[in-house]
Amino acid sequence: MSKIQELSEQLANKIAAGEVVERAASVVKELVENAIDAESSQISIFLEESGMKKIQIVDNGEGIANDEVALAFRRHATSKIRDVNDLFRIQTLGFRGEALPSIASVSMVEVETAVKEAEFGTRLVIKGGEVVENSPAPLRHGTKITVENLFYNTPARLKYVKSLQAELARIGDIVNRLALSHPDIAFRLVHEGNEMLKTTGNGDLKVAIAGIYGMNTVKKMVEIHAEDLDFTVSGFVSLPELTRSSRNYISLLINGRFIKNFQLNKAITSGYGSKLMGGRFPIAVIDIQMDALLVDVNVHPTKQEVRLSKERELMGLITRAIQKALASERLIPTASAEL
Ligand code: ADP
Ligand code: MG
Repeated sequence: MSKIQELSEQLANKIAAGEVVERAASVVKELVENAIDAESSQISIFLEESGMKKIQIVDNGEGIANDEVALAFRRHATSKIRDVNDLFRIQTLGFRGEALPSIASVSMVEVETAVKEAEFGTRLVIKGGEVVENSPAPLRHGTKITVENLFYNTPARLKYVKSLQAELARIGDIVNRLALSHPDIAFRLVHEGNEMLKTTGNGDLKVAIAGIYGMNTVKKMVEIHAEDLDFTVSGFVSLPELTRSSRNYISLLINGRFIKNFQLNKAITSGYGSKLMGGRFPIAVIDIQMDALLVDVNVHPTKQEVRLSKERELMGLITRAIQKALASERLIPTASAEL
């Protein structure tokens, strides 16, 4: 036997799971992103014990064809990219084909799914990465995926998730951002029967912000808009009187994906100049549209970090858009109160 051996797919999945599914909140993120990529208009998320016992996502999207459901759980299996050129112009939130096999390797997963043209659906059950059932199911268009007993077979990871309260807050934060990045989708988040979030999905960002942060917050926000040849920047930012002590309320979206970017955060605070006190941050939802060729999303398995070409140019545009909106706000003080 040679000294070097290729790992089994199961073991490789478990290793990938260490990066892709760090915690319950990352499972929710990956599954909701799949539902968004499937062009759902309604996505409901049901949790038990902050997702550690159960995460169930029900969507009304495209569904998966009966003969492809098991394949979706194979490593590097994806419907979203085909060749290397696609990697440079990614339009979907997913593309790595890693989430489902990773999640299935550290939990018990059940899927029920059907495509629009189907006569029946498929039910697939996977335990610790192994398919234990693959059978026809009643027809219900879309996908219902249930993840139970997360990390039951990875004790160290189970211990790492210390506080259920903190985990629930993280999930809330992620679903908020996903809902803000898709005002055209009706989201519902329910924990142990209590509704934590509900958006209408009517396509209006202002209404989505009101649903998440409340009407009083929206009334203290102003609209921003700026564009040049490469970028279109739009969204809402809070007036200097409405700030928070953390950057958590800044949501940055690039082509519908929420991202983390220190430089762009700096560009936002620069827009406020001296109006912002030290250690205070605005509430902001900023949507940036650009040619997919200008952004590399293939930087990290969780896809929240991106590399931007022309970052300086974009920073300037964001700063100026905010300066302009805050300056005109002083001239017409009631402009933001019309909702
Ligand atoms: P990726 O999203 O990177 O393609 P995943 O492992 O998350 O990889 O999903 C694998 C494939 O399963 C997807 O490419 C998609 O075709 C299918 N899929 C997953 N979730 C859904 C869903 N909710 N609705 C329809 N298809 C889905
Ligand atoms: Mg995915």
